[in-house]
Amino acid sequence: MSVASYLDYNATAPVLPAVIDAMTQCLRAPGNASSVHRFGRAQRQRIEEARAALARTIKAQPAEIVFTSGGTEANALVLAGSGRKRVIVSAIEHDSVLRNAGDAALRIPVDGDGVVDVVALDKILSTSDEPALVAVMLANNETGVIQPVAEIARMARKYGALVLCDAVQAFGKIEVNFAALGVDYLSLSAHKIGGPHGIGALVVRKGAPLAPQLLGGGQEGSRRAGTENTAGIVGLGVAASHVDDHLLRANSIAALRDLATRRIKDLAPQAKVFGEGAARLPNTLCIDMPGIKAETQIVALDLAGVAVSAGAACSSGKLRPSAVLQAMGIDAGQAANAIRISFGWDSDEGDVERLIAGWGALWARAGERRAVSGTAA
Ligand code: PLP
Repeated sequence: MSVASYLDYNATAPVLPAVIDAMTQCLRAPGNASSVHRFGRAQRQRIEEARAALARTIKAQPAEIVFTSGGTEANALVLAGSGRKRVIVSAIEHDSVLRNAGDAALRIPVDGDGVVDVVALDKILSTSDEPALVAVMLANNETGVIQPVAEIARMARKYGALVLCDAVQAFGKIEVNFAALGVDYLSLSAHKIGGPHGIGALVVRKGAPLAPQLLGGGQEGSRRAGTENTAGIVGLGVAASHVDDHLLRANSIAALRDLATRRIKDLAPQAKVFGEGAARLPNTLCIDMPGIKAETQIVALDLAGVAVSAGAACSSGKLRPSAVLQAMGIDAGQAANAIRISFGWDSDEGDVERLIAGWGALWARAGERRAVSGTAA
């Protein structure tokens, strides 16, 4: 165990040493991938090798991959460029989907465990003949709850709808198979899988419509102009080639998450695990400390050397009640006490021990205050 425990993999995963090595080597080489000379051709080759590695990992065709600056841009590109005006999104999508979909987008509700209501989607789709774009994520970033995306894609197809699947959190934690999901668009981000920040990809099914939003040079098959972030793309490719190794560790990561859950419940049986009744990512635990605000928990845990986050880390710094938990019917007061603990390949039992020491100390202090004031949690 290191001196501090990083349990915030869903915000960003530590960069893999092999990624740093490959990117450093790439950054040392000159050349623009569009140049015809040997240096340019070498850069082009690095990009195409990364594209092939990513395609292999997610069972897509290399030509279906468009490199972007990350998951946000991939989602925004589809929402602006699919050509569909009628947009239907799940109520628990990431802000990069919700905000780019706009206020007119229809929302699919979720059940108490945070699973998208497929019957409700069927009803929404059946109310209009206008072809739609449906956006449902593969796994939620706050709760880790896995969504029935393949079933949704089959249903959407019956109505002539296109489907965008944000697989940013699922990638590297559960199998992501583009061909088997049957969606039209899939977004990915490197920094959740041990790659660098600021690079990701949109996978576009051959034949699916996509109007480019950045015009300029003809990069990425004229789907996304701009000189390629070659080192970032190389980093994404190397990180993608490690995904199968991470998946082999999924059971041991789930065991750490379950150990943390048991230990917290031993201390506070009333602590609630959000999404506990549904299939979840092996690494994610969203849990409340009754009566204690998430901000207080995060600061106390940070002082104890444990890094976790409250709700969506993408919007941390401005902690507002989690829209995901509220969509699940959790009241704002309880949602405000929820933290997200997310493990990864470098986590071990020592991290669970440190988490429990920090969590337990805060819970005990709060217990003393409760005893003095005579209030119940
Ligand atoms: N989608 C989901 C589900 C996410 O969790 C995130 C980031 O946390 C994003 C999209 C945005 O990805 P990026 O940070 O690469 O823009």
